[in-house]
Amino acid sequence: MGAPYRRKYHHTKSKGQETSVRCEFCGKIVPKWKTFTSYKSFGINDPVLRKQIDPRFVSSFTRKTYACPSCARHRHIIKPGRSRKSRTSNLSRSR
Ligand SMILES: [Zn+2]
Repeated sequence: MGAPYRRKYHHTKSKGQETSVRCEFCGKIVPKWKTFTSYKSFGINDPVLRKQIDPRFVSSFTRKTYACPSCARHRHIIKPGRSRKSRTSNLSRSR
């Protein structure tokens, strides 16, 4: 008799080729579902300047970038949640 319940990975290759994107920061090819999307703007922070430029033009300055999980953490794209708190406490305990 085998195990009554076998854990299945829902994410399989059955759908064909995965969409993979290049990480903006380290250049690693990461599956898209793993990446974190961030919008990089080309620094028009000046409100006066922003008023002068056509808003449609301003939006073109925003670029969609992908970051792999590790880069997303390092670049503060994702905010550390509860999971990090438990992880750090585990680390300090092991040390
Ligand atoms: Zn990366």
